[in-house]
Amino acid sequence: MKKIKLKPAELNRHKSIHSNCGVFGIYNNPDASILTYYGLHALQHRGQEAAGIVTSEYDEKNDKYKFNIHKDHGLVLSVFSDDKILTNVLKGNSAIGHTRYSTTGSGDKRNNIQPFKVNFKGGNLALSHNGNLTNTKYLREKLQNEGTLFQTSTDSELILHLIAKSKESKLEDKLLEAFSQVIGAFSICILTDDKLFAIRDPYGVRPLAFGKLNDSFVFASETCAFDIINAEYIRDVMPGEMIVIDRESIKTGSEKSYIIGTAEKYKHCIFEYIYFSRPDSSVFEEKVDKVRRKIGKNLAIESPAPGKDTPEDKKTVVINVPDSSNTATLGYFNEIVKTNKDARHEIGLIRSHYVGRTFIQPGQDKRKMKVKTKFNTVKGVLENRKVVIVDDSIVRGTTSKLLVELIQKAEPKEVHLKISSPPVISPCYYGMDFPTANELIANQNDQNTEEIGKHLGVTSLAYLSKEKLMESVPYKHEKTDYCTACFTKNYPISIEGLDDMNKNEFDD
Ligand code: SF4
Repeated sequence: MKKIKLKPAELNRHKSIHSNCGVFGIYNNPDASILTYYGLHALQHRGQEAAGIVTSEYDEKNDKYKFNIHKDHGLVLSVFSDDKILTNVLKGNSAIGHTRYSTTGSGDKRNNIQPFKVNFKGGNLALSHNGNLTNTKYLREKLQNEGTLFQTSTDSELILHLIAKSKESKLEDKLLEAFSQVIGAFSICILTDDKLFAIRDPYGVRPLAFGKLNDSFVFASETCAFDIINAEYIRDVMPGEMIVIDRESIKTGSEKSYIIGTAEKYKHCIFEYIYFSRPDSSVFEEKVDKVRRKIGKNLAIESPAPGKDTPEDKKTVVINVPDSSNTATLGYFNEIVKTNKDARHEIGLIRSHYVGRTFIQPGQDKRKMKVKTKFNTVKGVLENRKVVIVDDSIVRGTTSKLLVELIQKAEPKEVHLKISSPPVISPCYYGMDFPTANELIANQNDQNTEEIGKHLGVTSLAYLSKEKLMESVPYKHEKTDYCTACFTKNYPISIEGLDDMNKNEFDD
C-alpha cells in the first residue's frame, strides 16, 4: 500500500476525532429498540457524549424495508428520555446502537454521531464502529479522487463508501471487499434490510461478543450488555471474522462465518483489562474482574504496603480510587494482607455520582473544582495513617496530583501511590483518546518514578512492571498476544505518518 505521510498536526487532529465507543446489535426481536437501549445503557462507560439507535422495519404494505433512526448528543438516558421514541419511532425487529466518546470539537458535530445510516443500491445500511482505522488518509484521498463526497469527518464513513462502491453483486462479498482495504482497529456492527453483520479486525484489538436471547442473536462490545437483557454469551467474534445473521440463521439457529483477514498474532488492547472494560464483563474470553484482581495481586508482589514503624503506630490503610481501581485494589489488598497483618482495606475516598456542570469563579481552577465535586475524603480513616492508594494509571498526572492534594488535607502520616499499569509514554491510535506524548507526565519526567512522585506530592510512587502486567493477562489461544503500545511505543498495526509524529512528539 502506498504510504502517505501526514503532518503531525493532521495526525493529532485525526487522533482527536476518533474515540472509544460501545457497539450493540440485535436481530429478530420485536423489542429490538428497547433491548438495544438497555444494551447501550450497560455500555455507557465506553462513550458518554452521544448515543444512537437504528432499526430495520419491514413495511408489509409496500413489501420493503424502512430504516428508523434516532441519535443525539448526551447520555443514553437523556437521548432516549421519551419512551415513545423507542416504541413509536424505532419500530422493527432488528437494531444496532452506538455510544460515542470523542474529544471537544469533532464530538460537537452532529453528523459524526453513530450509527451512520445510508441508502445505496443494495438497500439500507447502518453502521456502528468501535476503534480507529489507521490508513484513513490514504482511503480518503483514494475515494475523493473517485468523486466521493463525505458527510462526516470520521473514519467509519470510509467503510460505508467502500461497501457502496464495491462492484460485487452479493452483499457479503461487498463487505469482504471493503474490509480487505481497511487497516486498523475495528469492532463493527452493520445492519442491512434483512441481515446483521458483526466484524472484528484481524488483530482483535477491541472486544466484540456474540450472544443469543431465545431466537434472537445479539452482539455487544462487552458482555455486561448481555446480562442486562438476559442474553446468553455464546462466544467472541474472532479476530478477522465476519459473522452474518440472516433469516436462515433463525431457522438453523446458527450464524454464518467468513474470514476478512488474518494476523500472525492477535493484539488485544491490554488497557481494556486495566481500566476500560467493566469488571462485570468478559472481554477477550476472560472475566475482567479476574484479570484485574490478578493485576492488583502482582502489583502487591512487586510493591508491598509499608508496615508500622513502631508498635504504637496505627495500621496502614489501603484505599481505592472509586470506581476505576476498586477491583485492582481488592487484588492488591488480598495479597499484601497475607504477610502484612498491619494493613487494612478502607473506604477513604467517596465519589459523587452526580457530577454535572462545574461553576467556577474567576481565578479558580476548573479541574480542581471538578475533582472536589467528584471526590471527598473520609478524614477519620486517613488521619495520621500511612495511606496506600491504588490507582489504575497516570496519564497527564493532573487529576492524580489534585487527588493527592485532597488526601493530604486529611493529614495522613504518609501517602504511597501504587499504579496498576506501567508508565503511559505514548498515545493510542487504535480507538482511545490519549493526550500527545509531550503531555504525558512520564515523558515530562523522563520516566523517573521518583521525580513523578515528587511532582504528585506523594511519599512514594510505584508502577506495575511490564513483565508483571504481561503475566497477569490470559493467553487463551496460540495466537493470543496484546497491544501494549501506550507503555512501549511498539505499535503492532501500521499507522500512516507515525514516523513524522514520533519525531515531532519525542524529539523536542
Ligand atoms: S495503545 Fe494502549 S490503549 Fe491503545 S490499543 Fe494499544 S494498549 Fe490499548
